[in-house]
Amino acid sequence: MPPEAGATRDCPGLLARLIERIRRDGPLTIDQYMHACLHDPRGGYYATRPRLGAQGDFITAPHVSQMFGELLGLWAADLWARLGAPGRVRMIELGPGDGTLMGDVLRAGRSAPGFAEALEIALVETSDPLRARQAEALAGHAPRWLSRVEDIEADLPVILLANEFLDCLPIRQQTAAGERRVGVDGEGRLAFIPPGPVVREWSPALEAVGTAIGSLVATAGGGALFVDYAEPGPGDSLQALAGHEKQHPLANPGAADLTAHVGFPAFLAAAGRAGAQPWPLLTQGDFLRRLGIEARAAALAAANPGRAPTIARQARRLTSADGMGQLFKAACVTSPGLAPPGFS
Ligand code: SAH
Repeated sequence: MPPEAGATRDCPGLLARLIERIRRDGPLTIDQYMHACLHDPRGGYYATRPRLGAQGDFITAPHVSQMFGELLGLWAADLWARLGAPGRVRMIELGPGDGTLMGDVLRAGRSAPGFAEALEIALVETSDPLRARQAEALAGHAPRWLSRVEDIEADLPVILLANEFLDCLPIRQQTAAGERRVGVDGEGRLAFIPPGPVVREWSPALEAVGTAIGSLVATAGGGALFVDYAEPGPGDSLQALAGHEKQHPLANPGAADLTAHVGFPAFLAAAGRAGAQPWPLLTQGDFLRRLGIEARAAALAAANPGRAPTIARQARRLTSADGMGQLFKAACVTSPGLAPPGFS
């Protein structure tokens, strides 16, 4: 296949192919549109041009500060101890991006004797360019890649982490006049139909991941931690970001990251029905404070006095209500009877 940049008449850009598909097969549901924008092999954002970090399209908590991944690493090591310190455990990350988070997790985890040696690393990732970044970042840890959550084996206890993964799972939207779809208007442009406001969002893909993870932790033993953004309540949360700027979600399919607020109640309920124990949702700010971010920031600043103001600013951004502390939530599901640090 020729790449999107060298598009020919045989391989037009994603926008042109979407318009052609809609004219042929009818309007797309929002989840079909999102899936194409993110994962189309020739034009999808993650499949072809993911750009993470300060120079890219969006920033995530592990890029704000190493403290985020280090605290998750201590959380993981504590969970392992609460599992009885098994000699082998599968450490899984969903959507590891450029590998920064897992790198910080593994470095901090070295402080727990025996933990690093027990780990087998498995990464669930669909994007080839990001798999390459992860291989570089985690060279020496011999990670293994899987394409789907359903492919994770249940033959070892699991510790699973996912930051800003669930927000990529395609959603569907309801308006008062019916399900919202993406069609083509009289001028040949993509348009939402019917045009009214969104009254409800739901995500079969999110619930399927909840079911798969719930069944995995219930069968294998262990726990799964999800950090993502979510504001409760109805409304349209479909959002496109490129170069740190919000864009219209239909403006540039495949060139922007396309996400939605995570429906945590439905996600946790699905995991619970599959046999796992869901824990009450925390804000990211409360979760990181319970894990000791203040002490961690003080220790880092003491070791590095010149960076003290930067470290304090980063900790504030991760925890404060006007930063990521309130909008982002931490969710956990475990095998029944296992009490996860921070939540219990
Ligand atoms: N966790 C990282 C990256 C977040 S971006 C961070 O916090 O910086 C979302 C990640 O999820 C990317 O790695 C993307 O390729 C991956 N992803 C998105 N949808 C996916 C899917 N359906 N299956 C597997 N990985 C997916």
